[in-house]
Amino acid sequence: MAQRWGEGEAACSSRPRSSGALLRAAKLRVENLAQSLRLRTTYTWQEVKRCPLCAGTVLLPSASYRQGLLGLRFQACQECGLVVQSPRLTSGSLARYYRREYRASLKRGVDAAHCEPLFQRGIRRGTYIAGFLEEHGVTLSGKQVYEVGCAYGGILAYFQSRGCRVRGCDVSAVAVAYGRSRGLDLAVGSVELLQGSRQQVDLLILSHVLEHIEEPHAFLETVRHALASAGVLYVEVPGLAAAKDRRRQFLQLGHLMHFRLDNLRRLLESAGFSFVAGNEVVQALFRVGRSSAGKPEDAVG
Ligand SMILES: [Zn+2]
Repeated sequence: MAQRWGEGEAACSSRPRSSGALLRAAKLRVENLAQSLRLRTTYTWQEVKRCPLCAGTVLLPSASYRQGLLGLRFQACQECGLVVQSPRLTSGSLARYYRREYRASLKRGVDAAHCEPLFQRGIRRGTYIAGFLEEHGVTLSGKQVYEVGCAYGGILAYFQSRGCRVRGCDVSAVAVAYGRSRGLDLAVGSVELLQGSRQQVDLLILSHVLEHIEEPHAFLETVRHALASAGVLYVEVPGLAAAKDRRRQFLQLGHLMHFRLDNLRRLLESAGFSFVAGNEVVQALFRVGRSSAGKPEDAVG
């Protein structure tokens, strides 16, 4: 059911402690304002009329958020509880946003000094993703791992260090170039790169990706075809139930949907996956097929 989160403001309330920090904060604020002006005046927006998960048409106000000169609004599907951003950027504008604005602006820079810490953060994320998978019976060594939305490649670098063969893609050419410079097999693009691939995947990772996707059913169908019949899928999205103190991170322009474990599971099951394990972070493990028999290790071993 619809649940109201309240209203927010993107401006940072913490007080810089030095003149350097003050300058950086001022520069950031100017960049944010300039970006929000661009988004408001040169990008196109559309209302969401149907829930992208269940096709429900009753969407109730759930949250609003001010980001510079933009007022982002979010609505909750009465039927399944999915929270959607509406209005949101049209397909063409979304593509342009990711091409021109997303990584470079969100991460405040594109050079190695900015990329390396993000690569290292990916390695730390890889560590905890691997921990979740192993806790639920998935062994890693020797597996073909593919990550859609791999950013700078840190997660894949960790899986490679654990004996996996890894590949990945991201829409950010900057991020992919950096990952390649670290020796990873990465490509610029998204899930369409998996279509027609002869090399099937044992473990596919979607870490903070699904909430960005316009047509999740079609996206997941491509993912399912890319996975080996015994393959497993790791999905992580920002969980509504865990969002209380992290609203600024969660309510952002690129996040078209916000999940709880129950409606994430409903989406994946409708796309031909069966649920293995999950939590409200949300982290969840699925495998191909609708049967509930067997353990995940049976699937990937
Ligand atoms: Zn719905």
